[in-house]
Amino acid sequence: MKFFDAHTHNTSTANKFAVVNLTIKDLKNSGLKPNSFYSLGIHPWYIDEKTLSRDIDDMQTFISNPQIVAIGECGLDKLIKLDFKKQIAVFEQQIVIAEKVNKPIVLHTVRSYQETIAIKRKYKAKQKWIYHGFAGSYELAMQIIAMGDFISIGTSVLKSPKLQQTIAQLKMEHFLIESDEHSDQLPSIYSIIAKIKQCSIEFLIAQQRNNFNRIFNLDL
Ligand SMILES: [Zn+2]
Repeated sequence: MKFFDAHTHNTSTANKFAVVNLTIKDLKNSGLKPNSFYSLGIHPWYIDEKTLSRDIDDMQTFISNPQIVAIGECGLDKLIKLDFKKQIAVFEQQIVIAEKVNKPIVLHTVRSYQETIAIKRKYKAKQKWIYHGFAGSYELAMQIIAMGDFISIGTSVLKSPKLQQTIAQLKMEHFLIESDEHSDQLPSIYSIIAKIKQCSIEFLIAQQRNNFNRIFNLDL
């Protein structure tokens, strides 16, 4: 079965049903494999003052490549030491790039949901934003969905009853599924979500195909 994976760090994955996350360094070191799709961005954990302006320049250069279907992961993280204002500045530069090239953003969001939502409003950003690794409440999910954005569900669903309840209440078209750091867990994630939604895995895959195509502007 071909599971769609909206966000993975497994760069050895060469399959067009996954969006493989790359840093600028990954891209320069290993390039892009044919028949694969990627997101490219500056993660808040890896903001490096010394290379930042070059990294942004490189992003502008590479981002138009049609195999790069999203910007990211990027965003805000309140659990790291790096100055929050600095994080916002780097995030905002990437929002500008996303708006220019009409590509969605894969978001890393740690204890910064309301700040991220406020930034989207401030920029009147038109691109779709994907809150990856979502593990929040139904109310938060609906706040995101009301903005025209999406959540992406990973391994948290395997162990969080609260997230399972959130998913039970969501429409199929409002969430993506991802493996993030755990490629091997993707079948289990699909299987538990199919159970929660009381549908077959085949039906869930078909729904995810629609979401994947719509959000990443693909036609798979
Ligand atoms: Zn990730």
